[in-house]
Amino acid sequence: MLSFRTRPDEPMPDQPTNTMISVRDAESLIAQRIGTFSSESLPIDRAAGAILRQRIVAERDQPPYDRVTMDGMAIRFADFVRGTRQFDVTGMQSAGMPEWSTNQAHIQADSCIEVMTGAVMPADCDTVIPVEQTVREGAQLVLAANYQPQQGQFIHRQGSDCRAGDLLIEPGVMLRATEMAVLAANGYSHVDVAAQPKVTLLATGDELVDVAATVETWQIRRSNDRALASLLASRGIHDVQLAHVSDDREVLKAAIAAQLASRDVLILSGGVSMGQRDHVPDVLRELGVERVFHKITQRPGKPMWFGIGPSGQAVFALPGNPVSALVCGTRYVLPALLQAMGLVTVAPTPVALAESIDFAPPLTYFLPVKLLYDTSGNRTAALLPTQTSGDFSALTQTDGFVELPPESSHFPAGFIAAYYPW
Ligand code: AMP
Ligand code: MG
Repeated sequence: MLSFRTRPDEPMPDQPTNTMISVRDAESLIAQRIGTFSSESLPIDRAAGAILRQRIVAERDQPPYDRVTMDGMAIRFADFVRGTRQFDVTGMQSAGMPEWSTNQAHIQADSCIEVMTGAVMPADCDTVIPVEQTVREGAQLVLAANYQPQQGQFIHRQGSDCRAGDLLIEPGVMLRATEMAVLAANGYSHVDVAAQPKVTLLATGDELVDVAATVETWQIRRSNDRALASLLASRGIHDVQLAHVSDDREVLKAAIAAQLASRDVLILSGGVSMGQRDHVPDVLRELGVERVFHKITQRPGKPMWFGIGPSGQAVFALPGNPVSALVCGTRYVLPALLQAMGLVTVAPTPVALAESIDFAPPLTYFLPVKLLYDTSGNRTAALLPTQTSGDFSALTQTDGFVELPPESSHFPAGFIAAYYPW
């Protein structure tokens, strides 16, 4: 098991509540209770996409030496000032050769060293002439007619990007190509990153069958597990097992108990509503999972349940409705797991509604939208022509959903809403 803990500097949350809570409270209760997952040291070749858990500092000055940035010749500018335009070639300095003056004689007046991009700048010289501005004449390189160099040109100075010991990357970022380059360039062959939480997606429901099974008319292929697994995988959470259990109370209890014994995060779908076979909340309580909340004033996804198991396991019980499960997974589960893995979370991006919409009861609404871009690059969020809560087939035409707060019931075109991509 990973070590879960509630951060000690944070106040303990309010008492578990049996009444519906707001989206904001649900979000903050999850954030307070989920704690921080453990970290591990990974070889760099396995770290791409992981969440960084250490500071990355510069191993050396960058560049580590005055670096030639053009193929050409290195000269002393003073020779040019004295009127010299043709230079005896003393030698050649390419990338990977030690500094010229440490293993070669000093160069004479009116001489040059042929240099290549990436080479150490020869210490006797101070200016680089690009090869395009030179003409070769026997053992000499001659400046092209009328060419006027600037002193010090085409040298990338030691330490001009950063100094040894400078902080380059703070913990809490997901390692992309840019961060990987910095790790490699600074000698980080191993790096501390968030360990993968052990996640189980447990689909509950007597009616559910697997994607590969024969399906009877009264049965439903289960899809929430595949949707949620893909959502987690898209942000680097890969240790995810899928399981299915019937609505029988004892069978359900045994299955959840087995998962609690071996997994860090349990994401259930189905069985959290008011039906006679919706036993999930009772069974979780019997197994010692502390209920943090049940039911959120939102649509879809009202019956969502969240709690903390006896060993600190995070337990999310999502409604079975596929749109609800995906919205709750995107809005609550994924951000919470990423936060617990140490990702510094960023606020959702704002988007303007393309059209107005009205709602009656004071709830938070999550509406699937398609993003539209005009020729100026402005984007707006267009609603689906019909919004039925169970229709997940239509979600493939959408990019994500907007969140409309409960404070208002009328949202004009142009209203700025928080946007969550699928
Ligand atoms: P429940 O929350 O268990 O009452 O389920 C609500 C609706 O979602 C029912 O019509 C279920 O058949 C459906 N459902 C539940 N779980 C899944 C699942 N894993 N995949 C697809 N549909 C589901
Ligand atoms: Mg069910």
